Amino acid sequence: MIWNETMECMDRANMRTLQSIRLKKTVERIYQNCEPYHRRMQEKGLSPDDIQTIDDIVKLPFTSKKDLRDYYPFGLLSSPMSEIVRLHASSGTTGKPIVVGYTRNDLAIWGEVGARCFTAYGLGKQDVVQVSYGYGLFTGGLGAHGAVETIGGTVIPMSSGNTEKQIMLMHDFGAVGLACTPSYALFLADALHDSSIPREEFKLKVGAFGAEPWTEEMRKEIESKLGIKAYDIYGLTEIIGPGVGHECQCQNGTHLCEDHFYPEIVNPETGEPVAPGEFGELVFSTITKSGMPLLRFRTRDLTRLIYDKCECGRTSVRMDRILGRCDDMLIIRGVNVFPSQVESVICEMPELEPHYFIVVDRVNNLDTFEVQVEVKEEFYSDEVNKLLDLRKQIVHRLQSVIGLSPDVKLVEPRSLERSQGKAKRVNDKRKFK
Ligand code: ADP
Ligand code: ZN
Repeated sequence: MIWNETMECMDRANMRTLQSIRLKKTVERIYQNCEPYHRRMQEKGLSPDDIQTIDDIVKLPFTSKKDLRDYYPFGLLSSPMSEIVRLHASSGTTGKPIVVGYTRNDLAIWGEVGARCFTAYGLGKQDVVQVSYGYGLFTGGLGAHGAVETIGGTVIPMSSGNTEKQIMLMHDFGAVGLACTPSYALFLADALHDSSIPREEFKLKVGAFGAEPWTEEMRKEIESKLGIKAYDIYGLTEIIGPGVGHECQCQNGTHLCEDHFYPEIVNPETGEPVAPGEFGELVFSTITKSGMPLLRFRTRDLTRLIYDKCECGRTSVRMDRILGRCDDMLIIRGVNVFPSQVESVICEMPELEPHYFIVVDRVNNLDTFEVQVEVKEEFYSDEVNKLLDLRKQIVHRLQSVIGLSPDVKLVEPRSLERSQGKAKRVNDKRKFK
């Protein structure tokens, strides 16, 4: 099933024309309304007239996560605050998050692209879908929520956690679809097996999984353990949230909603476009948004684009699985974590040495997150209570900056390994690496 056949199956030449028109309009809007972009284009000697077709996009400056941090919180908006109806946020590289503002029209676009995803998975208005992504500032929960509402399905706004209730409601409400991270899907699969309810009593058929990288092996495991079809959903907050792309029933690449988000692949070092079909860094320009449209946003995700027509009938470009990232961002339980965030908390605390080590693993399908940190000589006392108290403070501060509680291990001064060259501060033992 296809939600929007006109857009999803458009002839490639017409798609380029549409993208050209939309890019031109977006550039004009940004140039008029967003001072940092205006200035940057002027510095490059560019005016909106220089952008006539989608091929001119390479003339435009890039946008990075750092720009979102530098203009925190609202400096990159292209609409007045009175037009912004929703804010979402995701991890920045240090203490402050990155913020995105949505106009009413942006939310409609989000619903539209989300509807394309869930329709491609075979879900429709007769289906109950349990949304077990976290709700809140994170785009996962409300993004999937809007998508299910747009197709007219019945949404269970469950959010993550509370496993027993997840299983109970999935059963009692007859959920046919499940939306969550792939690792949480595996966790729920075990919980379902452990419950006293037989699998035949569940109606579950389809999963929409994303927000973190996953492999073909993981797909097979989820599909066999849960007895469902598991589909990829891709997105990022800066661009809109989940729904930037989705798999179809061919499960052979993630279709991108390129009439809204124009993709490019560039060499992550030089920023130059790579040859068609080659791997590199994925870059997106939003060409229909009005709240916070971004030009050439560097996702840091590594993949490649496939332009062949898909057997499902869609002509939209597909991306291969995300191979990894070209920065040091970790995705732990679906939450983006930068080692620099951990560092900023540690360096602010006088009791701690600036030496730390992060260990990430996956145990029983749940990510574990440990932070080892050295305590300064003068604070490293034998008094257990004092150390416990310090540990609590660190957990609390990391929780408030990252949104996750790590298992903090306080270690003696000078006990963590020092490196001769580039410090190795992370050991990610999970198998998709
Ligand atoms: P989301 O809510 O979609 O997780 P974030 O902005 O928090 O959005 O994180 C975006 C990043 O998450 C992406 O740049 C990518 O690295 C990762 N991500 C999201 N979806 C997928 C997916 N389906 N496969 C692999 N990585 C993904
Ligand atoms: Zn397809």
